[in-house]
Amino acid sequence: MIKHEQSEMEAVLGAAFSHALEFLRCLDERPANATANAITLREQLDHTLSEHGTAPKDVIASLIRSVEGGVLGTQGGRFFAWAIGGALPSALAADWLTSAWGQNAALYASSPAAAEAENVAGGWLREILGLPNGASFAFVTGCQAAHLTCLAVARDSVLRNYGWDVKTRGLAGAPQMRVICSARVHASIEKAVRLLGLGTNSIMLLPPNDDEVLEEAQLANALDEAAAVPTIIVLQAGDINTGAFEPFEALIPVAKKHGAWVHIDGAFGLWAAASPAYRHLAAGVVEADSWATDGHKWLNVPFDCGYAFVRSSDAHRSTMSVAAPYIAAGSGVRDAIDWNPEWSRRARGFATYAALMELGRSGVSDLIERTCRYANDLVNDLGQLPNVEVLWRPIINQGLVRFLDPRGGATEADHDRRKRSCRA
Ligand SMILES: *Cc1c(COP(=O)(O)O)cnc(C)c1O
Repeated sequence: MIKHEQSEMEAVLGAAFSHALEFLRCLDERPANATANAITLREQLDHTLSEHGTAPKDVIASLIRSVEGGVLGTQGGRFFAWAIGGALPSALAADWLTSAWGQNAALYASSPAAAEAENVAGGWLREILGLPNGASFAFVTGCQAAHLTCLAVARDSVLRNYGWDVKTRGLAGAPQMRVICSARVHASIEKAVRLLGLGTNSIMLLPPNDDEVLEEAQLANALDEAAAVPTIIVLQAGDINTGAFEPFEALIPVAKKHGAWVHIDGAFGLWAAASPAYRHLAAGVVEADSWATDGHKWLNVPFDCGYAFVRSSDAHRSTMSVAAPYIAAGSGVRDAIDWNPEWSRRARGFATYAALMELGRSGVSDLIERTCRYANDLVNDLGQLPNVEVLWRPIINQGLVRFLDPRGGATEADHDRRKRSCRA
């Protein structure tokens, strides 16, 4: 690091600290949405790049001023859009320390502390989410990156079973693969499929039933249709709009019978497994081959943080590991580079370690149950108001309501217009 005067460091970090405390303290009073538009923000931020630089403390003061109106109150209790979490105090503090420590968490050798913290936190996550003891894991940037990680392993593994080694041969000429999922699948699966070279034509969308999930017979039929095609099945633990859980106990055995790889999108829903009251929703999910979930949503770890888990650690390592002459590969220790798509990387395990330690097992289940209760109350109470239509009552922590146009004789189009106008 460049050597700075201690007083300069104190001034800039102190300014950031004071502002952070003030920002967090005022979350309940600040607008939850943006109050400045893109033009204003750009004007505020777009200073001429200075020739000779700016003092660190002035940079931070300027940054704080310049983002005014463009920072959402997503961490506050009045923000209801998207699946976005807040930050537990210890997780936020650990995240600050992660930056201060500035570790490169690629290798055990480049940060023994980061490697061991991830090792421990990964084990805690497995335990709390009810995943197999031997499952390998990677701390990545989010569920999108977790999908990419898991589906890369799935692709290599499934094609290996068909006598095709993706690592050496690539995908040109490989057997055409198929990715089966619900039509409600999160678009991050499509993106992962695209980036992995499988092509969106490989995706087969099945229509969900009235409960917004796939059915056993439907999946069996889809698999029977092209029995000899290498297949990945993506099932949802917590649909993005409804929180619906696929019936894993019925679906996964069907998938296994056909030799398909089962991947779970459990971005937030997988956390239901941490609560005795909601665990039944995830029953059977443990039989899958890989799982993706987030730390920055329900666990309230600061952005960005996601987790990839793979049942077969051999398959996981085979896809991700890399060797180079200058890498000091550890023996008997965990090198994240063997499990992650990244090379150099942030030591993001510290924040998860802190969050899980702060909450403990019952703290996590309380968090899940409390927020589900809030969602339920919110939807029920909204439903009591005039001109509000409840479209979906929460299974876990989300419901759907529609704000109707109150004018007599309003049409569906009028209702939709009103709903759109409520967005802002
Ligand atoms: C948020 C979300 C994702 C994407 O996760 P990121 O953490 O934003 O990468 C994938 N699937 C579902 C169901 C989600 O809610």
